[in-house]
Amino acid sequence: MGALNTFPLSLKVRGRSILIIGGGDEALNKARLAAKTSAEVVVVSPEPEADFSGLGVHVAARMVGACDFFNAAMVFVADHGVEGERAKKLARRAGVPLNVVDVPDQCDFYTPSIVERAPLTIAISSEGEAPVLARLVRARIEAMLSPGLGKIASLAGSLRKSVESLIQDGASRRRFYEALVTTPEIDRTGAEALLAAHADGGKGAGIVWLIGAGPGAEDLLTLRAQRLLQEADVIVHDQLVPTAVVEMGRRDAERISVGKAKGHHSFSQAQINTLLVRLGAEGKRVARLKSGDPMVFGRAGEEIAALRKAGIGYAIVPGVSAALAAAADTATPVTLRKVSSGVVFATAHGAEDGDLAHWAALAGAGITLALYMGKSIAGDVASRLVAHGIAGTMPVGIVVNAGRADRSLYAGTLDALARDAIAFSDGPAVILIGPAVAAGDWEQAVALAPQNMQVA
Ligand code: SAH
Repeated sequence: MGALNTFPLSLKVRGRSILIIGGGDEALNKARLAAKTSAEVVVVSPEPEADFSGLGVHVAARMVGACDFFNAAMVFVADHGVEGERAKKLARRAGVPLNVVDVPDQCDFYTPSIVERAPLTIAISSEGEAPVLARLVRARIEAMLSPGLGKIASLAGSLRKSVESLIQDGASRRRFYEALVTTPEIDRTGAEALLAAHADGGKGAGIVWLIGAGPGAEDLLTLRAQRLLQEADVIVHDQLVPTAVVEMGRRDAERISVGKAKGHHSFSQAQINTLLVRLGAEGKRVARLKSGDPMVFGRAGEEIAALRKAGIGYAIVPGVSAALAAAADTATPVTLRKVSSGVVFATAHGAEDGDLAHWAALAGAGITLALYMGKSIAGDVASRLVAHGIAGTMPVGIVVNAGRADRSLYAGTLDALARDAIAFSDGPAVILIGPAVAAGDWEQAVALAPQNMQVA
């Protein structure tokens, strides 16, 4: 490993000044950066051109002088003319660290890319070698950290004394702080309740997050889902959730598959409810991962009822539901002006004749039907819909494995589906029915997930 040529540190600037020499856009950028601190920011330029108003910085429209460096913690030179040259000499004489904007050779220090959740600061530096890489890493870290993290860091600081008096054992204290910093949007009252629960003799409060994993591709997870997966002690997942998503959890998190594949129930819903309540009561942070969106055909209603009854905290994190993945995968606008004024998510599995009559009327009025859990009975459902009066020419589209690398598409009419003229490939499927389906690009739409290589 190569040696570092710079040393990262956090320099105290409170009560001091940050000096910026120059009055153009480069100076303005540095002024914005410096204005994030509590230092006094002084911009010196004989003729400032940029608009520094609103930043709360002091603009001195004059030449730079030795006294400007008196209390300066650092100086940015963003003037490549005579004033800049003078400022560099003065800075060196006063021993103030110098950054000459865009001239790395003349810099005493570089400014890293910063992820800021004050007082928490994360600095990423490539020693000026690869700023693009540093920015990319910064974007990834940004995405990982909740916007409210800074507030939580301050909360942790303000509770330090109480924690010391209430929790004696080091490991228990660590568990409290872990629970505190990983509870999104916690406020002071919540933090105090958490502390009471962790106080000697107490047990940390558990929580169950019902998280939508989307249809398959990992990058369709929300940022929040990704973050909570990292925080969970236990991940309880359905069979439809792809391994790659389950793998995104913390390496040492316990993983429990409750594998509810059709026709093979390894856990009953009642057993899953009991499991979630037990884990929550043990103080565990549980990620209950479901395919698509948890609130759509996900039995979330029963799990939430069980958690509420047991007084276990819970929260919902939405995901991309299969019907919407199918719409994206085929560029089908499921609502379309003057064609389709709405969309219905329905389950074909176990549908009564009355339901079908109802849907037939809706589809006849242009509403798009998105049928879940219907592949094995698709032909039957199609013929019953025709019997209830939908035209046999009504456009139908089926997406198997929507949002996954192995997706397959079928477009046709209700008649063709009723005749069982379509041979499906394996996997979960959404059936879209309605006039808006004809507006989709079933031939050439860009796939939602990168497709597998075709071997000729
Ligand atoms: N909560 C899930 C639905 C779970 S019910 C969601 O919001 O998507 C299971 C049904 O969802 C399957 O029978 C199938 O109809 C549909 N489904 C789930 N994943 C799918 C996928 N990747 N492609 C197509 N349909 C899918």
